Amino acid sequence: CGIVGIVGREPVAARLVDALRRLEYRGYDSAGVATIHEGRLDRRRAEGKLFNLEKKLDGEPLPGTIGIAHTRWATHGVPNETNAHPHFVDGVAVVHNGIIENFSELKDELIADGAVFTSQTDTEVVAHLLANYTREGKNHREAMLAMLNRVSGAYALVVMFQDDPGTILSARFGPPLAIGHGKGEMFLGSDAIALSPFTNEITYLVDGDCAIITHKGLEVMDYEGKPVTRKSQISQATA
Ligand code: GLU
Repeated sequence: CGIVGIVGREPVAARLVDALRRLEYRGYDSAGVATIHEGRLDRRRAEGKLFNLEKKLDGEPLPGTIGIAHTRWATHGVPNETNAHPHFVDGVAVVHNGIIENFSELKDELIADGAVFTSQTDTEVVAHLLANYTREGKNHREAMLAMLNRVSGAYALVVMFQDDPGTILSARFGPPLAIGHGKGEMFLGSDAIALSPFTNEITYLVDGDCAIITHKGLEVMDYEGKPVTRKSQISQATA
């Protein structure tokens, strides 16, 4: 399983799939990619190998210079297209590696509140929580922090909001997450190998980090929103 994200200046879909291919060694059963183009989230997802996703993208290309992508190793819900990430709820897009341990309690609460679930995954609660907090008037950063204070388990989580096509938010608790520093572009991925075609300047997140990337660079904070400093290093991983 693996995650990639790009805040770019050039189209991202093909680059996201290339980066996912570098994460194939981690194993997966389905894959998906989402971008924001002309103010709208869109996605392609496919069961099975990346080849199936590429075929879909060939038939129906996904424009956009910001995007996130995922290879899934199903833990909750069968491996099919509906359960493949990214998950969308009301303009929020989420990809996740790991397990949200308290998802069933959160899901009951969200359903009682009127949420309609479209997948069997534990991940979908994250998208609903973010949509709810946004609806309540929180900004994206506040919504992200509020969500992170509700979920427990192991995760690398990566989020885009449709109404902010210049920002990717992420958090790490367990599975690794690396940030790549480009020239006017920023990247994130499960490891430095995935990012090696784009950059070798890498910042590794540690458990409990929430990271925000934009064209301007990287900002890291704890779950209270307090800034933390993480130094970048030059990775030896080669494209
Ligand atoms: N638990 C999530 C799911 O089953 C993510 C699995 C993964 O790590 O890819 O959809």
